[in-house]
Amino acid sequence: MASPRSEAPEIKIPDVLKRKRTLSFEFYPPRTREGLPAVFRSIHRLKGFKPDFVSVTYGAGGATQRFTEEIVTSIERETDLLPMAHLTCVGQTREEIRGVLERLEGAGVENVIALRGDPPRGQAEFAPAPGGFSHATELIGYIRANFGFSIAAACYPEGHTESRDLDADIEHTKLKLEMGAEFLITQLFYDNDYFYSFLDRARRAGIRAPILAGILPILNREQIRRFAALCGATIPPALDARLEALGDDRDAVRELGIETATLQVRELLDGGVDGVHFYALNRSYSISKILSNLGGGRVQDRGAAPGE
Ligand code: FAD
Repeated sequence: MASPRSEAPEIKIPDVLKRKRTLSFEFYPPRTREGLPAVFRSIHRLKGFKPDFVSVTYGAGGATQRFTEEIVTSIERETDLLPMAHLTCVGQTREEIRGVLERLEGAGVENVIALRGDPPRGQAEFAPAPGGFSHATELIGYIRANFGFSIAAACYPEGHTESRDLDADIEHTKLKLEMGAEFLITQLFYDNDYFYSFLDRARRAGIRAPILAGILPILNREQIRRFAALCGATIPPALDARLEALGDDRDAVRELGIETATLQVRELLDGGVDGVHFYALNRSYSISKILSNLGGGRVQDRGAAPGE
């Protein structure tokens, strides 16, 4: 079946980024096939905001990895959305990774984000699969040498948890771009000052690639504390105190998440951010509210950003 997007000339995200600020949403694959319809419902609910691309994360193994391919391929074939597949080095040999890339290529997918991945649950440190890749840089180099995908990579406003220091972190980020990545998406953060100092360090180190801000609206107090601790993101004390005060009132926590993300994104837009990438977690309510609060098209409207 011909892609409904076939009339759109841009199929590589870096081409879109040359022209405008991007809005994107990230989804994750379910553990079982029964969970697939819920993912598609979430994608379809957010489609109305006309994201420039949508991405699907890559799990630590087994069925979920095949679901990533399946979801990305369906998005490519059956919608007018531009998909980006996540791919990690976890638990896969070079040949297995080649297989994934060949299938994605065969399905017409043009964009990937190449990551190392986190160690699977119960494993303290990342260990490459025999014959696999140790770092995102190696995976990026391999994709660049063998395929025509556009390649994105991850970056960390507060530094990656395993980085020796912020200088080493920037050096490794820079290496990702030298190996062939074309733009970066940040880990979640709740204090824009971390983003701005990262941007400053990156630009001083000669990084010119677009850097999209990764935003996770808070949905649940315990979940966000767990996520933030895992990925080394700071929840500012004032925000944490407000979360604490709301106790188990889930609706109030979600409303606080909408309020804080609206303010955070508005400030990033005013500062001329290259793009906003929402970690949607297969939900749509909070993101819909945030985008409505910001005003239709505000994220993608480059002209509205002062300071440019
Ligand atoms: P790397 O770049 O390999 O970095 C890992 C550590 O090694 C860092 O401390 C870095 O400084 C250091 N390092 C990097 N290169 C070198 C080198 N050449 N030599 C020595 N040290 C080096 N995880 C998933 O499992 N699935 C996903 O789909 C997924 N999507 C993500 C999307 C985004 C936007 C982000 C920000 C993260 C995502 N993650 C995902 C999480 C990510 O896999 C983890 O943060 C992981 O711990 C690091 O991945 P990386 O690609 O940055 O790895």
